[in-house]
Amino acid sequence: MGRLDNKVAVITGGASGIGEASVRLFAREGAKLVIADLQDERGRRLAEELGSQVIFQHTDVSQEADVQEAIDLALSMFGRLDCMFNNAGIPGPGGPIENLAVEGWDNAMAVLVRSAYLGMKHAAPIMKRQGSGSIVSTASVAGMQSGFAGHAYSAAKAAVINLTRSVATELGESGVRVNCICPGGVATPIFGRAIGLDAEDAERSAGTMLMALANIQPLQRAGVPGDIANAALWLASDESSFVNGHALVVDGGITCG
Ligand code: NAD
Repeated sequence: MGRLDNKVAVITGGASGIGEASVRLFAREGAKLVIADLQDERGRRLAEELGSQVIFQHTDVSQEADVQEAIDLALSMFGRLDCMFNNAGIPGPGGPIENLAVEGWDNAMAVLVRSAYLGMKHAAPIMKRQGSGSIVSTASVAGMQSGFAGHAYSAAKAAVINLTRSVATELGESGVRVNCICPGGVATPIFGRAIGLDAEDAERSAGTMLMALANIQPLQRAGVPGDIANAALWLASDESSFVNGHALVVDGGITCG
């Protein structure tokens, strides 16, 4: 028996890092799912590897039509939608506030916040009709405390946390739960992307991050994508059926100090 048997999910950013680990885990636990990502080659390869229960859909999560299409695909192929995992993300621009360009700010808001709003907006009517569903978004400890990331990223992730709470209070009466996860430092290609590496080099850089992040963790190890995938699985499953409007911190204790 899988923990997500008979459930259908859409996972954005599912071609890499936390999203890829979640795709693999959700599929292993019985879910049928759509990987929604910009990275066609990686996304298609992963879907092919996992078989007919997993489909890839090219998606830009900042575009309403794309998000709607990914959700519609899940519905038309698998007949329902049990989990919308708004996970795709970018590092956003760094640097001092006076140098923060409007384009960089707007792009971070579009990819990190508009995406979560769009996922919630288009998943909600389907889940309300079903009378059940779990919306999960990947926020960050950077949305709770300063000093972990750039200004735009930090502001965007704080917005995701409060959007989660706000929508949870609306959808609760329909049996739809809305939660988010606040990861700490997790060794994924996102750090390589932040310094402009291409996909392959960014993938390699995740290994270096494993060691760098371990040094600053109370647990003396870096977070790995599976740590966050496990949290997403729990929030997507019925095991968390009384958890709603929650920001689940999965950070090895780094925000305790
Ligand atoms: P990653 O770079 O490995 O994966 C991000 C994925 O999102 C990639 O597959 C990328 O192609 C996709 N993506 C980016 N922009 C997109 C767009 N416009 N449309 C569709 N897909 C897009 O990074 P990750 O660390 O696995 O990041 C996943 C989530 O976790 C992000 O929201 C990130 O902000 C969050 N997060 C990561 C960490 C960390 O330390 N790695 C910490 C806290 C939060």
